[in-house]
Amino acid sequence: MDQLLFNELTLSKEIKQAIKDIGFEETTPIQSLTIPKVLEGRDVIGQAQTGTGKTAAFGIPLLEKIYIPDDSLQAIVICPTRELCIQVAQEIVKLASYMRKVKVLPIYGGQPIGRQIRALKKGVHIVIGTPGRLIDHLQRGTLKLDGVETVVLDEADEMLDMGFRDDIEAILRFVPEQRQTLLFSATLSQDIMKLTKKYQTNPEFLKVPHHHLTAPKIEQSYFEVNEKMKTELLSRLMDIHDINLALVFCNTKRRVDRLVKNLKTRGYLVDGIHGDMRQAQRDRVMKKFRNNKIDILVATDVAARGIDVPDVEAVINYDVPNDNEYYVHRIGRTGRAGKHGISLTFVSGKEIYKLRDIQRYTKTKIKQKKIPSLKDIENIKIDLLIEKVKNYIQEDNLDDYIHTVEKLIEVGFNSMDIAAALLKIIKDNKVYN
Ligand code: ADP
Ligand code: MG
Repeated sequence: MDQLLFNELTLSKEIKQAIKDIGFEETTPIQSLTIPKVLEGRDVIGQAQTGTGKTAAFGIPLLEKIYIPDDSLQAIVICPTRELCIQVAQEIVKLASYMRKVKVLPIYGGQPIGRQIRALKKGVHIVIGTPGRLIDHLQRGTLKLDGVETVVLDEADEMLDMGFRDDIEAILRFVPEQRQTLLFSATLSQDIMKLTKKYQTNPEFLKVPHHHLTAPKIEQSYFEVNEKMKTELLSRLMDIHDINLALVFCNTKRRVDRLVKNLKTRGYLVDGIHGDMRQAQRDRVMKKFRNNKIDILVATDVAARGIDVPDVEAVINYDVPNDNEYYVHRIGRTGRAGKHGISLTFVSGKEIYKLRDIQRYTKTKIKQKKIPSLKDIENIKIDLLIEKVKNYIQEDNLDDYIHTVEKLIEVGFNSMDIAAALLKIIKDNKVYN
């Protein structure tokens, strides 16, 4: 299917300008499919992999529908976690940057309820909330859904996995039946279909097919490696590729903890995230990651799913995922929005069979690569150093240093020997950076 340009959609000039500022060039496949239908007023089920722009797929038409002069609550978005609430709210606020008067409020557990109550009282057009906190406000009477015209269930699979089914149903009972109900999810299960039957009216089912899922710009390769050698390989790859931001996946929480510890002793800026950690801890880690305070984030699938981590240069599968779908989710974290990304998968022993299965499932070829030797790394580092030397010569003011070199030449050394000696000193001291 050809993707639509945003200009081909009937959108207000405010939204078009915001989209331009954000830098989206064309719609993603799920946006192409869903935005026109949502604008028409249809109930929609939108299914596409994580990282494919589902937030804007509902965020854009949602904003188009808001009637600003009336500051009553007109739309709610239900999200599984606090992180997602914040992300969705941020994205909608960005899309609304030329609609100054639109008020968007995220409400989630952990934040003082009093503050949320005060904000709600002032009048809000769109609320983005976690099921638990939404229920809390409904029970207190501090949130009224009588005027809500649009409900979005975002990351529906996650919400059901987390056991929010009853909460979601309870919330939907507060919303007038005359409404538009949108459901977005990376995967669809029987349970989700049951929910849609009960709460949506003649929904349009729009799905981005699987083979479109793996972004073509992602360079995928794998290494056959001994379990014991995995950490060493990871360090070598980080150094060779000069990766500043990597997302590393392990299959279990314990393996996350262990890898984080090992990488810390090797001097990397690293942290981990998994389901056993308290929400506050997870928030702290995510914040550090987004603010570039860590270079490597080690995560389990469950902890990382649904979280939007922009600009990850590389996804590293420290373990081959147990589930094919997880592989697609994982590598979807790099090469977003058309940027170049790489995915590197570590395969040990029988994991090779799982990898073959993944290749069949995703219909992609994952190239095998040779583990770089220490000698390879040395050479690559020297290449990087030479590159740096060139840049310094072009850009920097080197007068003081030239003076020193001149003195050496005056006493009879030649510049070739001097440069070579300096390189050797750098190499022996391993000061490449
Ligand atoms: P999903 O909900 O499907 O997992 P998100 O809505 O979190 O995905 O979007 C993933 C990333 O893609 C975000 O950083 C978002 O800003 C970006 N994005 C969304 N739509 C577009 C687009 N049309 N072009 C480029 N990037 C986009
Ligand atoms: Mg999403």
